[in-house]
Amino acid sequence: NAPIAQADPEIAALLDGELRRQQEGLEMIASENFVPRAVLQAQGSVLTNKYAEGYPGRRYYGGCEVVDQVETLARDRAKALFGAEYANVQPHSGAQANAAVYQALIKPGDTVLGLALDHGGHLTHGMKINFSGRFYHAESYGVNPETYRIDPDIIRQRALETHPALIIGGWSAYPRIEDFAAMKAIADEVGAKFWVDMAHFAGLVATGLHPSPVPYADVVSSTAHKTLGGPRSGFILARSEYAKKLNSAVFPGQQGGPLMHVIAAKAVAFAVAGSAAFKDRMQRTLDGAKILAERLSAADVKANGISVLTGGTDVHLVMADLRNSELDGQQGEDLLAQCGITVNRNTVPFDPRPASVASGLRIGTSALATRGFGEEQYREVADIIGTALAQGTSADTEALHARVIKLTEDFPLYPGLDQID
Ligand code: PLP
Repeated sequence: NAPIAQADPEIAALLDGELRRQQEGLEMIASENFVPRAVLQAQGSVLTNKYAEGYPGRRYYGGCEVVDQVETLARDRAKALFGAEYANVQPHSGAQANAAVYQALIKPGDTVLGLALDHGGHLTHGMKINFSGRFYHAESYGVNPETYRIDPDIIRQRALETHPALIIGGWSAYPRIEDFAAMKAIADEVGAKFWVDMAHFAGLVATGLHPSPVPYADVVSSTAHKTLGGPRSGFILARSEYAKKLNSAVFPGQQGGPLMHVIAAKAVAFAVAGSAAFKDRMQRTLDGAKILAERLSAADVKANGISVLTGGTDVHLVMADLRNSELDGQQGEDLLAQCGITVNRNTVPFDPRPASVASGLRIGTSALATRGFGEEQYREVADIIGTALAQGTSADTEALHARVIKLTEDFPLYPGLDQID
């Protein structure tokens, strides 16, 4: 039972290296966040030892009296946080939650209609080589080519053309709020079920800073680790009429034993997300994204052929459009990496470049809000990004990196956790 530094110095050194990487850079990947230490502790706990196939009170293993309480707490907290009648906290990941939703709501071969991957949809919303595109007949809707927004008229037209059994809301790379009421009305009109994957904006929904899909959707799925700031994992919410089907789709449909240590960490995260401090964090996240969108709309950035998709943002991310720039997505990502800022390249709708290079940058503000950033720090980071993108390959990345280091020192991440032992 030696600590990891002795038991496995190679891995211990890598854990230290990753901690330092996170501490010394600015994390702006829109799907990432920093979990509280309580979540790290729950995930690193003895609950990883326990098999608990089944559900609380109906397990296929003995010795589940403690983990039953953990899972019940996690479920109750999820239901209370989002105002849902039913919660399943067992999905190991967002993708597995989504696989269970398909299994519960429709049959293989049925038609589904989701946002196109290259317009900001997710792999599990019908990509050809994902299970969703292989086992189901996947059709898609795109954004409005003029506004770049998800447009209920377009969804309705596509729904009337394709007769889906399931309409999918939610996205991975899109900067605006969707109209869930309109999407539900379209689903009703064509006799489809309506599912919203709120993985990206769940933290905003939890704090009332984004409309909730729960009153409209038949089923809502999510990850716990993006804006919500919990452990890497998934969960599902629904009206109680879907409880039986969803429970059996998760277990035994998609998974074996639940990860009880991760479920405990989810319970912690749901409790945190109900706090006033978390609401303040989500508000700073939104304010930061607006500040960034404003800076990236300035004349010097525009002069380099870069614009902000939809002209702004309602959520925790900004989509920079580099289609008319000398910089492609890969170069933009690399340039910001040289400044100590991690973002990811992403296709933009109607992207002429291949996805491996792409013409977009997806830049998120949630992890920095967790680090404590407020308006002043977001103005500084927005200016660093704006200056780098405006100046492109001639940017003084060393000077910009020095400004990043100052921010990381002023807002230390996991202070006191300097060493994994
Ligand atoms: N759903 C959406 C909308 C996502 O953006 C993601 C992750 O990027 C997922 C599901 C999948 O989550 P996971 O990576 O946990 O499988």
